[in-house]
Amino acid sequence: MMNVFDNILELIGNTPLVKLNGIMKEVPAAVYAKLESCNPGHSTKDRIAAHIIETAEKKGVLKPGATIVETTSGNTGFSIAMISIIKGYRCILAVSNKTKPEKIAYLKALGAKVYVCPADVPADDPRSYYEVAKRIAAETPESIYINQYFNELNIEAHYTGTGPEIWKQTKGKITHIFACCGTGGTLSGTAKFLKEQNPDIKVIGVDADGSVLKTYHETGVINYNEIHSYQIEGLGKNLIPGALLFDQIDEFIRVNDENSAFAARETALKEGVMGGYTTGAVVQALKQYSESHTFSAEDIVVLIFPDHGSRYISKIYNDEWMESQGFSIQNLEEVL
Ligand code: PMP
Repeated sequence: MMNVFDNILELIGNTPLVKLNGIMKEVPAAVYAKLESCNPGHSTKDRIAAHIIETAEKKGVLKPGATIVETTSGNTGFSIAMISIIKGYRCILAVSNKTKPEKIAYLKALGAKVYVCPADVPADDPRSYYEVAKRIAAETPESIYINQYFNELNIEAHYTGTGPEIWKQTKGKITHIFACCGTGGTLSGTAKFLKEQNPDIKVIGVDADGSVLKTYHETGVINYNEIHSYQIEGLGKNLIPGALLFDQIDEFIRVNDENSAFAARETALKEGVMGGYTTGAVVQALKQYSESHTFSAEDIVVLIFPDHGSRYISKIYNDEWMESQGFSIQNLEEVL
């Protein structure tokens, strides 16, 4: 029987590749989006959460009734919570007090226990969400700490999943891959697999204005002066993640809050695809890249769209929020 599954976890991976026909008309290449929102938890993080948890099970580390701990208010939290329900684990998430109440409600609706920790303390303060998660994991027998920023299984999930899927979906003809970097796992694993098939494939990482990744890639040094707060969630970092394989990346493009928000809105209006904030970021990165690089009609460009726009209704899809940030929405009316 087709399309009948034993449980929701069987739907993880094998996400579709969809051609973008409206937003990048000025680029002669064929541009495709890998829609990670088609995972059952609506983001790419289902892949890593499932891979890390299933690897721990195979190693005998996770027994029935065990506890899974992570520091996230974002997509990884939703994925761990969903998987824990099906597999019978307890899910404990330490989040910052900047987390929106609707996100905490979402996590609780999926059965997670959520510890809300102060955002304005250093990472090594015992009250920080990193330290709280570490302490809970250490004190709870039969528990694992997912630690996505420094877990090589994060890379492996994309090396064995996302990369081979894209290779097959493009019949080995992909020429460029673009992906946002937060932990770096998505791009590192996908790029490693693709470059092993064809080392000429261009790998472009997307970083946020206010993050250290682009400069670190170019100079090997963290420029602390570049760090400032920004609105895009899940993109960029103020430290160097262990899950980012810098040698697999040819170039980083840095995008800002306003352009990325606008690009997400434009993608919704022109393609009918409601993506998250980082979907806007990766579309914006291709726009910026195409200003200094030429494409041919034979090129096949894949953009990874990490999650779904429904999580950002009160943010980038809300005109009042856009205006409160000083972002112009006037031109949006002219988009169509
Ligand atoms: N977009 C969103 C919405 C995310 O939550 C993340 C994860 N932080 C990313 C992009 C980046 O993915 P990765 O961590 O694999 O680099």
